[in-house]
This record gives sequence, C-alpha cells and structure tokens, in this order.
Amino acid sequence: METQLDPMKDDLPLMANTNYILVKHYILDLDVDFQSEVIEGNIVLFLEAVSQYRKTSSTDKECCQLQLEETCKERASVPCHIPVTSVSACSSNPEYNDFALSGKGEEDTFEKIGNRSNKEQTSGISSSKDCCDTEDHGNEDFLLVLDCCDLSVLRVEEVDVATVSGIEKFTKSAKLTGVSKDLENLRNQIIHELVSLPADRWKEQHYYFTLCSQAPGCGQLLFTTGTWSLEIWKSGIQTPTDFPHAVRIWYKTKPEGRSITWTSDQSGRPCVYTMGSPINNRALFPCQEPPVALSTWQASVRAAEDFVVLMSGENSAEQVQLQEGISSWYYYVTMPMPASTFTIAVGCWLEVKQQSFTTAVQANAEFSLPSSQVDFRWCGEICGHVEYPCRFKNPAARLQAVIPYRVFAPWCLMERCKECLLQLIPQCLSAAYTTLGTHPFSRLDVLIVPSNFSSLGMASPHIIFLSQSVLPGGNHLCGTRLCHEIAHAWFGLAIGARDWTEEWLSEGFATFLEDIFWARAQKLSQDEVKGQQELKALLRWRRLRDEVQNSEEELQVLRPKKESTGEVSESGASVVKHGLRAEKIFMQVHYLKGYFLLRSLARIIGEASYLASLRKFIHKFHGQLVLSQ
Ligand SMILES: [Zn+2]
Repeated sequence: METQLDPMKDDLPLMANTNYILVKHYILDLDVDFQSEVIEGNIVLFLEAVSQYRKTSSTDKECCQLQLEETCKERASVPCHIPVTSVSACSSNPEYNDFALSGKGEEDTFEKIGNRSNKEQTSGISSSKDCCDTEDHGNEDFLLVLDCCDLSVLRVEEVDVATVSGIEKFTKSAKLTGVSKDLENLRNQIIHELVSLPADRWKEQHYYFTLCSQAPGCGQLLFTTGTWSLEIWKSGIQTPTDFPHAVRIWYKTKPEGRSITWTSDQSGRPCVYTMGSPINNRALFPCQEPPVALSTWQASVRAAEDFVVLMSGENSAEQVQLQEGISSWYYYVTMPMPASTFTIAVGCWLEVKQQSFTTAVQANAEFSLPSSQVDFRWCGEICGHVEYPCRFKNPAARLQAVIPYRVFAPWCLMERCKECLLQLIPQCLSAAYTTLGTHPFSRLDVLIVPSNFSSLGMASPHIIFLSQSVLPGGNHLCGTRLCHEIAHAWFGLAIGARDWTEEWLSEGFATFLEDIFWARAQKLSQDEVKGQQELKALLRWRRLRDEVQNSEEELQVLRPKKESTGEVSESGASVVKHGLRAEKIFMQVHYLKGYFLLRSLARIIGEASYLASLRKFIHKFHGQLVLSQ
C-alpha cells in the first residue's frame, strides 16, 4: 500500500518534527539474518519534549481551546477518519477494538493516508502538526513523526518504565496515586530525570536505559507509515509533554532498503553495512534524521558466530557467545550525535594484527609525546556543547596522541593491510593530534569494505570505511585517504553541519587537512612539503576546473540554500536540497572549492597561525552543529 518512491525526485525530505519532541537516546536490539537479508528486532526511543512545549502557557491553551472548538464544529458535519495501517497490530489489544473498521472504511482510510504522504513528499515539508492542529489528522492527537522508509513496522508500544526495580530514585517529588494519568506522568518524569543525569553518571544512566528498554509494554500506540515517515500517536494525548517518553518499535528491515547493502566481501563471504548518504539510517531504524536531533545510543546486535559486528561505539566490543552458533555484540556512545552518523558493518572479517606484541608497544611508545609538548592551553575553557563525558575535558584523553585502533579486512586482503595500512594508522593519528590536538573519539576501527562501496572512504564516529582501491597505490594513496577520513573526526563529526547542504564545511576542511596531516605523518622537510602541496593544489585545480565546466551550476554552490541555510519548518521538518541527485555523489566541487578557500586563508595569515585558529574553533564548537555564516 506504500507509495512508490519517485526516482526523479531531487530533494531528500527530513520529516521528523524535532521542534516539538527530541529523541535523546536509542536502544537497539537487533538480529542480523543473512539467509533472509533482514535485520529484525526492536528499538526503544527515550524522548524529551522540547522545552517551549513542556509547559503550555495560558494563552497557548486558550488558542488551542479556540481552535479545538472550531474544529469540533467542523467535524460535526465531516465523517471522522481514523488512520489505521495495521489492523492486526491493534486487534490484539481490546482497548483499540473501537477502531476496527469495515472493509470499505479501511480502503478509504488507506487512501487518505497515502494522499497525505504524497502531499508531504511533494512539498518535502510536513504540514505543521502541533497540539492545536487538527486539519489533516482527523483528531487533535499529537503525532510523533520519525524519519523512516523501507521498514516493516510490526508494533509500537509504550514502555512501562515505572516497573523497573530501583527506578524509584528518579521519581523525586512525584507521588503515585494509582490514577492512570498520574502513572503516565510518573513514567515521563522518570525518563526526564534519566536523560538529564549529569555526564559523570553516564554508566548508571546506561544501566537504567537498558533496564527500561527491557521493561514490559503498557499499551500499544497507534501508527501509520508513509513513504518517508512513521507517525505514532496515542489516542487522547494532545501535547508532546504528555506523549509517552519511552516508546518501543518492533520492526524489520526490507532486503531492498537503501540504508544498508547486503553483499559479499572480497573473499566471497556475505556481509552487510550501512551506506551513509543520501538516505542515511532511516531504512535501518526509525529515527529523527535532522542533525539537530543529537542523541546517544546503545546497541546489542546478534549474528552467527563467525561474523564480526563493527559499529559506532566508544568501546572496542568483543563477541559474547549466547548459544550454539550465535554471538552478541554490544556498543554504546555517550557523546550526543546525529542519528545519521550511526554506522554498522557485519561480516566475516578478520582483525589484522601486529606481528608481535613488542612492535605494538614500540609503535605506541614512539608516538607518545613528552608532556611538555602537549596542548594544555585550553584546560580552563568550558565546553559549549550539552553535557557529556567530553574528551577535551579529560586529562588522560588529552595526552593520547594515538587512540586505540583495530583493522578489519576480508581474509584475502589481510597481508596487504599488514604491509601498509596497519603501520600508517598510528602515524596518521599522531600527525592529526599534533595538528589539531585532542582526538574527539576514544578509539578507531578501520574496515576494508567490499568492492561495491561507492567511494574511497567514509568516516563515522569510531569507524572508518576504506575502499580496497587505496591499498595497491602504495603508502601515498592509502595514507592521504586515511588522513582525510581521520580529519572528519573533527570536521564533520565532532563539529557537524547543521544544514546538510553545506557539505563543504566538512569536506573542505578534511581535504585541506589531509595534506597537512600526511606531510607530518611522513616527517617531510619544509621544501618537500611545499612541493607536494603545490602539486596537489595544481591537480585539484584541474579537477575543479573540469567539474565546474561540466556540471550544472546549481549543484556547484557551497551554500545552496543561501540566506535561508539551516531553516526548517515550524515542526522542524525540512528538505535536503538536491539530497537525492545521483550525480552528486561523484562530484568533488564542494571538497575542492572549500579546500581552495581554506588554502588561500592559510596562505594569507600563515599556516601556523591558521592552524592555531582552527584549534580555537574546535575548542569552541566541538560537540555542536555549525552553519557557514
Ligand atoms: Zn567538550
């Protein structure tokens, strides 16, 4: 019944109504099945109403009241449509028997929903649905809108977090009187206290998030899926404040879903991994895609025991055997990041290890700097981001020139990785550290991805995908690409773009910095550095000239949305201009224009003071989103 995607459509819609409610934490609990090419399980969302909606002022209430009265009058003459996509999901709960519809009515309802979704896709902007809005929905219930496509949503339920043992300590002043309204408030208050815990209590927080995610359900929620979204509501709940703050969604991916690709590695073994842009993770789990929705996550993923599961996570997870033939992998992050940065790869890869323990120790000793050289200047500065256990404030993390790293590759590429990639990683990490200071992330996995991977590399928190095509080119190709992806830890990840059309913010910086990192990693002389960088600039200039001559001018603009960059609709929805244009992924114009802009700045004020100002910029804006204005 879902609307077909329009392949001619240029712009990527971001549907989530993040101006009303935000996901603060996700818990994923998934099984990966290579036979059916399906990932199945559940995700629990821990939500927080956006502060302006947390308390409705009296004037707002009046406004709501007025509109509601008007709508009620209108509705008297209009038959009420109650959208139900999955009758079976609802019929299991007697509470929703009222919504059982006759065959004819059901068709009408489906059509109505389909039309609405089409309309939204066309404009790309979700019509605003706040507590007052009743126009499209047929009633005044608040809608949680998530970005979602190509997923089979099986069931959505409210989670009864009040049943978790030990959770009483988060209830503070709330008194439980047994009235159902009070119980709902209590559950939401628990989540509010839990998501607001200070950074130094993150372990306790994750412990209770996990317990809450396993708590029983306490009533199914109504939902409907559109082409680009999943809408969830609870009958009679009109505001984000009253909407359940812990929601569990049971779902499975579809083999054709475009967030992940099922393929074989270079040794012929099956594997699956996330593709990143353009549609990011919305076909892997329902989420809030707009970058303003910064969240943390925990994920448990199970697969057959000969597979490794790699993921964006602060811990270097090891497999835990569950039962005969099945292993589980657990990862978490404590730094809030856009859901689009979540990355997973599951395959029969092997870890490429150093020859012996002693070489590993030597390599690390070589890169630990005497403390006098370490960048202590910013010690007193306060971070500008929301609270999390930030490495910039952690003295031990600030001393770490080389973060722990692992390399994974298919069996047939192990030797090649051992020869070049493995030695290059500590050199490049150390060069990045001496250039920019503290590594924003605690560790790094590097994976040689299957040959169907469409670019040379992709950076995500804690994990870098590298194409096999960087391996045979000798150290230079592999090293520069590695440096480029490492630079994204600062520019693109720790400091993200608030508007995805401004990709030059991350790509321009990464392209500019890859030269500097790589020169330092090779320990070149000043003259050699200059020669190498001039040559690269020339090559890039030619590439840029060709591309500017041979591509549409509209696609070359660094800020496609001009003065309206970063703007979203009232609900928080927006579109990524040209986000779905196929030719865009092959274009480097944003990398190159950004690079030349930064290069010319560096030449004007001198590289040393330019890099000093970059470090200042990092200390001010890490953990936050920026716009180029
Ligand atoms: Zn910080």
